[in-house]
Amino acid sequence: MKYPNEVNAYCPKCRKHTKHKVRMASKGRARGSAWGNRQHERTLRGYVGKVAGEKAVKKQGKKQKIMLECSVCKKKQERIIGKRTTKKLELKS
Ligand SMILES: [Zn+2]
Repeated sequence: MKYPNEVNAYCPKCRKHTKHKVRMASKGRARGSAWGNRQHERTLRGYVGKVAGEKAVKKQGKKQKIMLECSVCKKKQERIIGKRTTKKLELKS
């Protein structure tokens, strides 16, 4: 899946369409003992009825995320492009 390096997109801060730089969105740092993580551990231990750990549901690919940065005000925003794909995202230079 290929995507251009620069796109014309709407900026909510400038309230109009401006040129945006495109970058791959990073996943960020996971919160260590966030509520969701603790809940997942509990389900693995079998505390809640359904055990989801051993045979996880296999999803067909992932949604590809990009980070758009406004060239005027430098505001960043995430965007999902396409649907679930197994192909990785490539940025055209
Ligand atoms: Zn802007």
